[in-house]
Amino acid sequence: MIIDGKQIAAKVRGEVAQAVKGLVAKGLQPGLTVVRVGEDPASAIYVRGKRKDCEEVGIRSDEHHLPATTTQAELMALVARLNADPKVHGILVQLPLPKQLDERQVLDAIDPRKDADGFHPFNVGALSIGIPGTPRPCTPAGVMRMIDEAKVDPKGKRAIVVGRSNIVGKPMAMMLLERHATVTIAHSRTQDLAGEVARADIVVAAIGKPELVKGAWIKPGAVVIDVGMNRLADGRLVGDVEYAEAARRASAITPVPGGVGPMTRAMLLVNTLDLARRAR
Ligand code: NDP
Repeated sequence: MIIDGKQIAAKVRGEVAQAVKGLVAKGLQPGLTVVRVGEDPASAIYVRGKRKDCEEVGIRSDEHHLPATTTQAELMALVARLNADPKVHGILVQLPLPKQLDERQVLDAIDPRKDADGFHPFNVGALSIGIPGTPRPCTPAGVMRMIDEAKVDPKGKRAIVVGRSNIVGKPMAMMLLERHATVTIAHSRTQDLAGEVARADIVVAAIGKPELVKGAWIKPGAVVIDVGMNRLADGRLVGDVEYAEAARRASAITPVPGGVGPMTRAMLLVNTLDLARRAR
C-alpha cells in the first residue's frame, strides 16, 4: 500500500477549514504570523506555500519580511511585539536566519503558547514528559497522522528512526515511544545500520542522503516512512529510501514527493488552529 500524503493532507486541510469556520462564527479568526529575514530563495518559496495553505483554510496569515542586515535586537523586538499581540495566535520564524542572528535565542523568545513549529524548549519538554495540548513539530506529527490513517498501531512494534535532528528525528522518536513502540534512534555513528533497519516493523528515514536506506534492508511487511527530500543533479527529487525495492517488501510506504512533505504543511495549519483555540 502506498500511503498517499497528498490525499491525507487534503483531508486534514478539510478538517481544519471546517473547524476554522466554527471559530470564525464565534468571532475568533485564527492567525499565523510568519517572520522571514533576508532573501534566501528557498525560504521565500516555503513561506509563500505556507501562506497559501492558510488562505485556503480561512486562517489569516501575515508576513514580516525583514532585511538581511536585521540585528538580533531588532528581531527580538519584533518577536516581543508579536507575543503581545492578541490577534497573533501562531508565530513562525522561517529558518535558516542570516549568519549574524542567533537562531536559538530567537526561537526561545517566542511565547510557547504561540509556537507554531513546536520548537520552543518548553514544548519540546512537554512532548518528552507527556504534557497534553502543546504544539508539536509538524513533520513528525504529520508522520504519526499518516501511520494512523494507514491503520498501523505502533504499540509493541519495533520502530527505528534514522536521524536525530531536533526538528524530525528526536521528536519522531518521542511520538513513537508515546504510542508504545520499542524505539531505536540511529544516526551517523550507528554501527550496522542495515542490521538495525532489518529488525524494524516501522522504519522512519530522516537523513538527507539520497536512497541511503536500501530496499533489501527492509523487513518484509514493514511500514516505511521516508522523510528525506533530496534533489539529484538531474533534477529528480528522491527520498532517503531506495523506493522501488523497499516498496516490494513493505506492507505500506510513503512516496517522495507526495508523502511526508504535504503532511508537514498541513500540520502547521493544525497547530495554528489549536493555538487559536487555546488562546485567551
Ligand atoms: P539533519 O541534517 O538535521 O539530520 C540528519 C540526521 O541524519 C542526523 O542526525 C545525522 O546523524 C543522520 N545521518 C547522516 N548521515 C547518516 C548516515 N550515513 N547514517 C545514519 N544516519 C545519518 O536533517 P533533518 O532532520 O533536518 O532532515 C532530514 C531529511 O528530511 C532531509 O532530507 C530534509 O530535507 C528532509 N525533511 C523533510 C521534511 C518534509 O516535510 N518532508 C521536513 C524536514 C526535513 P548525526 O546526528 O550523527 O550527524
